Amino acid sequence: MPELPEVEVIRRGLQTHLPGRKVVEITAGNKKLRLPVPRKNLKKYIQGARVESVARRAKFLLIAMDNGAYLIIHLGMTGRLGMFRAGSSMSKHDHLRLQLDNSMQLRFNDSRRFGSIQVLAPGSDFTNSMLADLGPEPFDPEFTPAYLQDYASGKSRPLKNFLMDSRVVAGIGNIYACEILFHAGLNPEKQVYRLSLKEWTKVVESSRYILQKAISCGGTTISDFVNESGQSGYFQLELQAYGQQGRPCRSCSAAIVKKTMAGRSTFFCPKCQK
Ligand SMILES: [Zn+2]
Repeated sequence: MPELPEVEVIRRGLQTHLPGRKVVEITAGNKKLRLPVPRKNLKKYIQGARVESVARRAKFLLIAMDNGAYLIIHLGMTGRLGMFRAGSSMSKHDHLRLQLDNSMQLRFNDSRRFGSIQVLAPGSDFTNSMLADLGPEPFDPEFTPAYLQDYASGKSRPLKNFLMDSRVVAGIGNIYACEILFHAGLNPEKQVYRLSLKEWTKVVESSRYILQKAISCGGTTISDFVNESGQSGYFQLELQAYGQQGRPCRSCSAAIVKKTMAGRSTFFCPKCQK
């Protein structure tokens, strides 16, 4: 499943191809994604408009049009975006095709259909969208140790579940939550009200370090973007905790442990992560 770094890598790829281009024709399939494809609003607000910029909020891609509309794409579990030459063969599970004014097409492919496509009409604000309840981005200046400590005050929740709560911080999923806490040396089951400001500082620093490193690793896929539709950078970031159960910890050699927390596989070093 694409997480924040993968979506950011795709954003950077799209940002090199889309701004300035006009969407001349839209073809949408009939299959329902996580939400119904807004065929009418795609024709009304996106077709005929020009792309201004491509931004990201959590794991949403926000394609801003010059008429004030937004095309919002979430990749879900298996969603992929890619730039293709017009006339090149279509793939099974291509659900949306945006023909640009330069013979290129942006295509959205999603085999399991947990992704979503939304259109925000010009002038509408984000408060009614799925973006409304999101907390700060990990790279935002307001994501500080004090903010986290304040949010966590009096709450008895495990640290890992807290970090994966998008109201606390946007875009941190299961894989990177495990990696961040391994890097920070903090036990994923630790109750959040018990963390000191110093420990929250580690959470902030490790979040930025791990996510930035993952984005840089995924960055190598950008050059393939035209043909390869934004493949994820997962396998280039060397994972230290996630999926490593039974293997020796890189710093102390104790075996990495696997546990289920809130239904998700959780990996940590029982010795290094206190
Ligand atoms: Zn260890």
